[in-house]
Amino acid sequence: AIVVYGSINIDMIVEAAHLPRPGETVLGNDFRMSCGGKGANQAVAAAKAGADVAFIGRIGQDGFGGRALESLSKVGIDTSRIGIDPTSHTGVALISVAPSGENQITVSSGANAFLSKTDIRRSAPALAQARIALAQLEIPLSAVCEAAMLAAENGIPFILNPAPAFALPRDLLELTSFITPNESECEILTGIRPDSKSALGKAAEQLMAQGVKGVLITLGKRGTYFATAERHLLIEAFPVQARDTTGAGDTFNGAFAVALADGLAPEEAIRFANAAAALSVTRTGTHDAAPLRSEIQSHLAK
Ligand code: ADP
Repeated sequence: AIVVYGSINIDMIVEAAHLPRPGETVLGNDFRMSCGGKGANQAVAAAKAGADVAFIGRIGQDGFGGRALESLSKVGIDTSRIGIDPTSHTGVALISVAPSGENQITVSSGANAFLSKTDIRRSAPALAQARIALAQLEIPLSAVCEAAMLAAENGIPFILNPAPAFALPRDLLELTSFITPNESECEILTGIRPDSKSALGKAAEQLMAQGVKGVLITLGKRGTYFATAERHLLIEAFPVQARDTTGAGDTFNGAFAVALADGLAPEEAIRFANAAAALSVTRTGTHDAAPLRSEIQSHLAK
């Protein structure tokens, strides 16, 4: 089983002929509402990739919260440890999308911002059955650090997807088994733009010097750069016709956690995650785009 510590939002998406300028009101076309937040997206990807997933997070006491819970339980995620915050609202993301695909996003974190160390401690029993813990940075850093500590106390690998990225304290990095930045997050964390093999190597070394055990830098259609103290290698992406690459990283992280929980070696787990993320970019949507375990397995067998 996998425990995911993270954010849940309701995404409200309007397509419009152009993005509004400051002060402008634009009459948009279609409106869609769906469950998002990196935590929820990664948990759904993990559940669809075949794992038992428990989610630790917070929602508000409102209709959006109920909708979010429904999206997670629909794929079999254990939502019993999600806190309902009577003083805040469920996180929302207000998204405008132009025909070019360009977007404009405003997030109000709401209850996500109040996930506390106490919430994390209280969820400790969920880790008792788990093999992997996974977190991102859309919840308070104090909660992420507590989750990392709890995972270490239980002897469970802790995967940190540093998104959105900012400078991280060394004590968190020391408790991180695998860190999974994309290229821009890598640059924010290390100050090194990972645009060549030697830059990738340097960035990974820098993160490991701060205590991280394994570094996975995701490189979009080029695949994933993987480094540990023993070796560095590029694990190539699966070539596909991409339609919508948003959320590729979320599918990658969820699937990577599943494969590690299954006992695969990290390189094999990355291949599994590359396959899952490749399938997801051929489809639109986020939760709907995440592939099922059987689909990932047949893609790997090709
Ligand atoms: P993010 O979505 O966080 O920006 P990336 O763009 O690095 O992350 O993508 C994460 C992973 O998704 C990559 O490591 C790769 O395995 C897969 N991926 C992303 N884009 C493509 C693509 N066009 N073709 C195949 N695989 C892709």
